[in-house]
Amino acid sequence: METLIALLCLGMTLLCFLLGTMLLVTEIQLFFAFIACGTFLGIVTIGWMINVLRCPHCQVRIAWIMIKARSHTSWLVDLVALEACPCCHRTLMSP
Ligand SMILES: [Zn+2]
Repeated sequence: METLIALLCLGMTLLCFLLGTMLLVTEIQLFFAFIACGTFLGIVTIGWMINVLRCPHCQVRIAWIMIKARSHTSWLVDLVALEACPCCHRTLMSP
C-alpha cells in the first residue's frame, strides 16, 4: 500500500514538471510554481518512502537500500517488484 502511495506521489511530481514545462512558453510565473511544487512533492515523497518502507522482519529501510544499490534508472522498478528483503532475504508478503 505504501508503495502505491509513493508511486502516485511520484507520478504527480512528474505531472507537475510536465505541466510546468508546457507552461514555460506562455506563463512564466506558473512555470516556476509548478516546478517548485514538483520539486517539493518529489523531495517529500522520497524522504517519506525511505522512512516508511521497512522490512517487517528486520526493520531495514528497503527503499534506501534499493536507492544505494541499484542504478538510478531501475531502483524504483526493482523496489516495486521486490518480493524478498535484500538484507534478511525473508519474503515481504508474509505476516
Ligand atoms: Zn529484512
